[in-house]
Amino acid sequence: MKEQVQKTFEALFALEDIREVLREALPTGPGPDEERAIREGVARVRAILDDLEAGTGTPAVTKIAGSLDIRNREEAYINIQPIQAAGRLTLEARKALIAYGDGYSTCDACRKPFRLDKITKPPIAAFHEDLARFLNMDTVRVVPGARRGFQAVASTLVEKGDPVIVSALAHYTEFLAVEAAGGVVREVGLSKQNLVTPDATAEKIEDVRRETGRNPALIMMDHVDYQFGNVHDVAGIAKVAHQYDVPFLLNGAYTVGVMPVDGKAIGADFVVGSGHKSMASPAPSGVLAATAEWAPRVFRTTAMTGDVTGRTFGIKEVENLGCTLMGGTLLSMMASFPTVKERTLRWDEEVKKSNYFIDTLLSIAGSRVLSEYPRKHTLSKIDTTGSFDTVARTHKRRGFFLSDELSKRGIVGEFAGATRTWKLNTYGLSWKQIRYLAGAFTEIAEKYELPVTE
Ligand SMILES: *Cc1c(COP(=O)(O)O)cnc(C)c1O
Repeated sequence: MKEQVQKTFEALFALEDIREVLREALPTGPGPDEERAIREGVARVRAILDDLEAGTGTPAVTKIAGSLDIRNREEAYINIQPIQAAGRLTLEARKALIAYGDGYSTCDACRKPFRLDKITKPPIAAFHEDLARFLNMDTVRVVPGARRGFQAVASTLVEKGDPVIVSALAHYTEFLAVEAAGGVVREVGLSKQNLVTPDATAEKIEDVRRETGRNPALIMMDHVDYQFGNVHDVAGIAKVAHQYDVPFLLNGAYTVGVMPVDGKAIGADFVVGSGHKSMASPAPSGVLAATAEWAPRVFRTTAMTGDVTGRTFGIKEVENLGCTLMGGTLLSMMASFPTVKERTLRWDEEVKKSNYFIDTLLSIAGSRVLSEYPRKHTLSKIDTTGSFDTVARTHKRRGFFLSDELSKRGIVGEFAGATRTWKLNTYGLSWKQIRYLAGAFTEIAEKYELPVTE
């Protein structure tokens, strides 16, 4: 398996060698030396393909640019790393990355009025419309990561000293976006089930109003939080936000692109998603969507004039610094989008697989799930203090025994050395892979004589 992965990369790189010759040739076609280089290149590709087919050969290329390893994690392993699962590229995205990797490749046919989301060839404008429909929001922009979406909104709405409500499970990037804007975060506490409730949010708003004499400038809530992968009542929280007339930002970093998200139905003024976390896109990518009410503010255009030149820059948007995602990042995001749209409709199946895995884990005596259960998401926090950690306590490799056993079975992405509380994500694994994964855990349990129930 690993040999074939290796040879596949070598073949891809050898084809790139040929592509390089073509790039150096004149538009009229390759000269004699270049023809020879192409022939030699083709012979090299053939030889590699023979090895690939036969499963033979030793690694001939191990580095890119002398220092970068070939990353074969998604080909040679099952990867359960919590933040990587749904950002894995689709096949089409990988093709787009090959074809559009050059710098400003998005800009081949950029015409007046010169803004990324207006480009029609490739169909970037249409993609923006699709994306807005997908989220059921009025206006959408692509941004370099969910964090840049928070930042654009906070920078627009938050003045110095303004309180901003987030949850006790908020992502650090929400804190930083508020901090950058000069605001102050105020956290809503959690219920016993580690959920953020509308009531607790209302209480926090009341507290903030009492203590500061002002309304919060913004409420940001994680649809699914990164610590437990719990699904929070964001529609209920949005309703509370609107009762107090506070704009509501839905943080869909763990939901947009994996499960259906209807911004209007939730009552969001802003929806933020992460391309590299949940939309099978390269980093850095994400989306920021707004309602028609808020779009003119967050997507306001420049009003600045140069004092010497008198220059103005038309419809360039201030928060986006004009244009955002360029080249292979955006084109790969677009190439993944049809699959991403379709896969959100199969979310139930992903949840079933998540529960299948968790149920198997729970069958290993002493194991617990710290996330809400049954699972409603594929990201889960588990506690194996009563199971695998009992082995780690006397094992010479300590907590690393589990990583060793998993990687022997081709499973990577667990927090190396952790045998107490740790997170994993089963998103995108097929049933065949899920059964294999679950089987690996029970096999390891049995090897170390941990009781496994049926
Ligand atoms: C990963 C994550 C983010 C950050 O997303 P980026 O796209 O990397 O900026 C924000 N919020 C939550 C809840 C996350 O899990």
